[in-house]
Amino acid sequence: MMITSASFVKSINGTDKILYDGKFQVAFVGRSNVGKSSLINSLVHEKLARSSKAPGKTKHLDIFLINNKFYFVDFPGYGFAHAPGDERERYRKMMMWYFEYSEVKRRKVIHIVDSVVGMTDFDMQMVEYLAGLHIDCVIIANKIDKLSKLDQKKQIEEITKQASGATVIPYSTKTNEGRSSILSMLEHTI
Ligand code: GDP
Repeated sequence: MMITSASFVKSINGTDKILYDGKFQVAFVGRSNVGKSSLINSLVHEKLARSSKAPGKTKHLDIFLINNKFYFVDFPGYGFAHAPGDERERYRKMMMWYFEYSEVKRRKVIHIVDSVVGMTDFDMQMVEYLAGLHIDCVIIANKIDKLSKLDQKKQIEEITKQASGATVIPYSTKTNEGRSSILSMLEHTI
């Protein structure tokens, strides 16, 4: 698949008619600072995602229309360890609303992890949560350029073991390694 157009549509934080229009939705989730904004920008070859540097500061889903055909849905990044309880609770509710109670029927999740750090507790919670809902999910092991070839292999094996059967794609937003794998995966899904 080639991405030929990408534009910001709107931010939502509750039900909205955009969720009912039947278009396929690709949701991007991940901890703050894993490179979620960089990944979206690298996929569309443009600076699109509005990234918030402060964990928990963004309470909205940012929605982008891709190729006039499907949506990218950018979840707020989250630093669970540093977030106060009520922010954590708000995030949990947003996830539950979007994944369990919204009208979106056709979707895939792109879950970004930091390949240097590996799966954190939060990442594992996310994997288990989405697997429990039988939501189609792919894991992007980002920042792979930071590792030696040997460590890349080790980390990818480790992350794959913890991925609950999801495909793991090594990625670098610096070199665009993995970009064609993601685009071909989207081609076959949407
Ligand atoms: P977000 O908070 O998840 O949206 O993360 P950002 O996209 O803002 O990236 C966080 C930091 O990681 C920035 O300093 C990026 O330059 C860096 N970064 C993102 N992707 C990569 C990557 O693939 N390789 C390396 N080396 N750094 C990356």
